[in-house]
Amino acid sequence: MKKQYAFLLAALFAAASSPSLAQVVGVSWSNFQEERWKTDEKAIKDQLAKLGASYVSADANASAEKQIADVEGLINKGAKVLIILAYDKDAIAPAIAKAKAKGIPVVAYDRLIEAPEVFYISFDNKEVGRLQARSIFAAKPKGNYAMIKGSSTDPNANLLREGQQEVLADAIKKGDIKIVGEEYTDGWKPEVAQRNMEQILTKSGNKVDAVVASNDGTAGGVVAALSARGLKGVPVSGQDGDHAALNRVALGTQTVSVWKDARDLGREAATVAVALAKGQKPAGATTFDGGEKKVKMNAILLKPVAVTADKLDSVIKAGWISKDAVCRGV
Ligand code: BGC
Repeated sequence: MKKQYAFLLAALFAAASSPSLAQVVGVSWSNFQEERWKTDEKAIKDQLAKLGASYVSADANASAEKQIADVEGLINKGAKVLIILAYDKDAIAPAIAKAKAKGIPVVAYDRLIEAPEVFYISFDNKEVGRLQARSIFAAKPKGNYAMIKGSSTDPNANLLREGQQEVLADAIKKGDIKIVGEEYTDGWKPEVAQRNMEQILTKSGNKVDAVVASNDGTAGGVVAALSARGLKGVPVSGQDGDHAALNRVALGTQTVSVWKDARDLGREAATVAVALAKGQKPAGATTFDGGEKKVKMNAILLKPVAVTADKLDSVIKAGWISKDAVCRGV
């Protein structure tokens, strides 16, 4: 009898640790245009492996339609929880409805999906905008500003812009700062940001003193547009800690890259997803209602860090980039 009991226990243990019974976590990616997303992906995968969960994924390749089909595909593959980096905040709605109908929890990854049943995990994006504008304002407290926003389908674009506005509002009111151009960047594409910047320069007769660009990809486009016209010393912001951007920060062609440690975000999201799949309440959640529709949601918002030339050692120490990879070293 005792032997039988031990055998049963061993069989149960083997079944519980077999991959077929592990929690399947479906991750729907928007696209991998920016360097950071591969880091996010690795962090999610590593943490799921640690938690004994399995990873299935799909890449929407910047197509809102494909992303809907992707989510359906992940559900069909047995996903018990979904992590979604939405390409389009509105177009994703049917996929969220489908998951809800099937009782599958959803984690909105990095970009807000406004629905009360969705768990939102990101960095504090308004704060990212504030940090961008603060660094630019410190470098250029007066003059003509260009605002290069993110993709209009990404809620982060407006959250960033709100944070930027908070910092610049007084100086704009006083007339110290004049916004001479403001554009969304379709699909966050660097070449679109470059084109928009060229048009702003043409319109203003090259009279742009500072540029608040919303991520490192768009900052790259802006820097290309400025240097094509021989304009030097114009402060430019970004975010993500892209290696190319950190090099520009070291060289002085970009003023700041707001760094969001994607390794932390990925790890947190995987932990939250597994908890939700098990019907548990994720630890450390707060409430967020700062979206367009002011929907109250459970959320975890991590803290971003501004990396200016004098702070490059922080990303080196954190193992985000090697000293050799930052030109001139620090
Ligand atoms: C993210 C940024 C990223 C951008 C383009 C935003 O939603 O927060 O980190 O650079 O999308 O992928």
